Amino acid sequence: MPAFDLHAALDGHDRVFLAFSGGKESVVLAHMLEPWRDRVTLLWTNTGHMAPHMVEFVRAYSERFRLVELAPASLMGFWRDSGIPSEVVPTANASGDRLPRIAAWQACCAVNRTQPKVDHLARYGAPCAYVHGQRRDDPLIPTWEQRYPENVEAIAPLWEWAEADVMAYIARHGLALPAQYGEGYRDSLECIVCPAPMTAQRMAYLRRAYPEAAETAAQAMRVVLQETERAAIAIAEVICAEK
Ligand code: SF4
Repeated sequence: MPAFDLHAALDGHDRVFLAFSGGKESVVLAHMLEPWRDRVTLLWTNTGHMAPHMVEFVRAYSERFRLVELAPASLMGFWRDSGIPSEVVPTANASGDRLPRIAAWQACCAVNRTQPKVDHLARYGAPCAYVHGQRRDDPLIPTWEQRYPENVEAIAPLWEWAEADVMAYIARHGLALPAQYGEGYRDSLECIVCPAPMTAQRMAYLRRAYPEAAETAAQAMRVVLQETERAAIAIAEVICAEK
């Protein structure tokens, strides 16, 4: 796996924050940061809709690290006022000209998962390192540049790692992961009601473990499909009329 000099990156930083979700990358990073444990604080955004077994998993880390639990204003408030998070967004539903509103899921994640951490770092105010688990090849992670407060130096030790590198590190060090990793879905579950980005593996796991949340996500996907279909049909009708 690609080497990263964490010693050099953390040199001169008395305070280190780690973006912690209980997902595989954050578990790897917490393990890598064990030697600096006295100066590390885990920052976790509890969206209020995280899988309960993951909430338990994350809170257990407070036995070894300082853990700060943050929360967004209201995930469901965002869905209501800004839109259901989706991969596909008809513009009329994005602007609110047509209801229900639908929003890019990246915007929902930015407001409800990332922003509480950014706000905490800004409130902290003093120079600090912010270690996060973004990887270059993760298709589910927004690639826009995060606007960190000026007091923050962002560090991404896993940027060049592939998913296989992450899993190999976990296997080599015998690190525990939340239950879903052994049950067909190998990612974090920070919002079990989230309809996007959805995969067959995620939905299959949710239907077994959290059927009510799976139905909420499915219903949101049906709404998005219906609205997207309407917008697509309108385009198709224009194209067909041209012939
Ligand atoms: S995981 Fe889904 S519901 Fe949760 S913040 Fe991101 S887009 Fe919103």
